[in-house]
Amino acid sequence: MYHVCYNILMHKGVEFVMFPHNTLSMIEEIGGQNAVKVFQILSSNKDITDEQIAEIAGLKMNMVRKVLYKLNESQLAAYRRGRDPETGWFVYLWFLHQEKLEILIQRRQKAVLRVLQQRFDFESQNAFYMCENKCQQFVFQDAFEVSFTCPTCGSLLVQIDNGKLLKALEGKIAQLSKIIKDFETREF
Ligand SMILES: [Zn+2]
Repeated sequence: MYHVCYNILMHKGVEFVMFPHNTLSMIEEIGGQNAVKVFQILSSNKDITDEQIAEIAGLKMNMVRKVLYKLNESQLAAYRRGRDPETGWFVYLWFLHQEKLEILIQRRQKAVLRVLQQRFDFESQNAFYMCENKCQQFVFQDAFEVSFTCPTCGSLLVQIDNGKLLKALEGKIAQLSKIIKDFETREF
């Protein structure tokens, strides 16, 4: 799931990165909008059956089961076997693994931080070139190979200033590093 944020970062820029401390956006990446619904129901109801979840969420049973398996696979939700007091039949009672959620968020924050740092290194170690029609961006080596002429429109490539992007990346890296550090050094 980490390459998702990487793609967003590469194609839309730093400002578009979904911030990893946003739990719901992470849940959505795991199992879509329905997973968000199920997750919210599990947050406020411990030991609940898939049938009850389906009823509250207004979702079909097979959809709820699909989502529960996904949450279980990510170790976010677990179940225990119980008995229905009325029918005496076995039922599966679902609950959230709160501590796993925190670990998952932590892991994701670190992955995003690595992507941000890689991008920062790449941006600070390279010179970038662009033609005046903004067809395509080139690193120095590629611009050199096409003799600083855009292969699409034929106009001259000029170096672009990535100072703003570097500053933005630096800010996000500091922000995220602080979030991770605060989490690791918090008092229980
Ligand atoms: Zn061009």
